[in-house]
Amino acid sequence: MEIFSPIQQVYFLSDFSFWVKRDDLIDPYISGNKWRKLKYILKDAMSKGKTHLVTFGGAYSNHLVATAAAAARAGLKSTAFVRGEEVSNEMLVICKLFGMNIIFSDRTQYRNKQMLYQLNFGEDNTTYFVDEGGASEEAVKGCADIISELSTHYDHIFCAAGTGTTAAGLLRGINQHKLRTQLHVIPVLKGGAFLASEIRRYENNTSNLKLHTDYHFGGYAKTTSELLNFIKTFTSSTGILIDPVYTAKMFYAIYDLANKNYFKSDEKVLAIHTGGLLGILGMKEKFI
Ligand SMILES: *Cc1c(COP(=O)(O)O)cnc(C)c1O
Repeated sequence: MEIFSPIQQVYFLSDFSFWVKRDDLIDPYISGNKWRKLKYILKDAMSKGKTHLVTFGGAYSNHLVATAAAAARAGLKSTAFVRGEEVSNEMLVICKLFGMNIIFSDRTQYRNKQMLYQLNFGEDNTTYFVDEGGASEEAVKGCADIISELSTHYDHIFCAAGTGTTAAGLLRGINQHKLRTQLHVIPVLKGGAFLASEIRRYENNTSNLKLHTDYHFGGYAKTTSELLNFIKTFTSSTGILIDPVYTAKMFYAIYDLANKNYFKSDEKVLAIHTGGLLGILGMKEKFI
């Protein structure tokens, strides 16, 4: 499949510009890095003759929407175990429209995903286990492809991180192409220093990795008025929509570091827009 992920120059501060790789434009539902992650997962599932993807996520998970849409387009069935008590929201409605079967499971059960899978689908050899967020070796490989698509050199590449799988893939791409690029990773959760070892599980050479652990704004899916104001200003002045859970924290980090003259004037900075815009729906009341 031909993909559409152009690189666009953004002028945000008066004397600073940077580039954005618009992975958010790849697809509205199989969004950004979730498309990258699912690409080789789907290939692997189909090559093994599997017809049913089984996965896991929270009630506002971009990964669930992406898996539901990708499965529907590939003619596969999909099931998701959703963490917590039964709820309904816009994202789960979209999942259901794509034909996803949703099973709510309490937080204790949810913790052991392999067991949930074995209990419900252990006997069913048409099913294929897809970990939460798509975390896998296939996902890392898919995210490394982002680097192969670049035709010019960037001194700094930024991405937001939840599990760190996307970051691991970018780092692998940087290492494979022997680039001098620094990879800047913005954990969106509190205490994100643990991501260094998560990333190392996939990519051992972390010499080009820099974690910025102070841009979590209170933790996962937490926000502040400063971040909300940043989203409004950034989106209205660039025309690029960003989401409060992931990409806003990364773009804020770039903005903040640029303000502190972190980058040399001749250095090129690239942000990976990993998509996830439906995440805005999870916080819509903050923008009314
Ligand atoms: C899921 C997601 C991430 C986090 O990706 P990881 O590989 O889990 O670190 C980043 N940005 C967006 C928009 C996402 O939906």
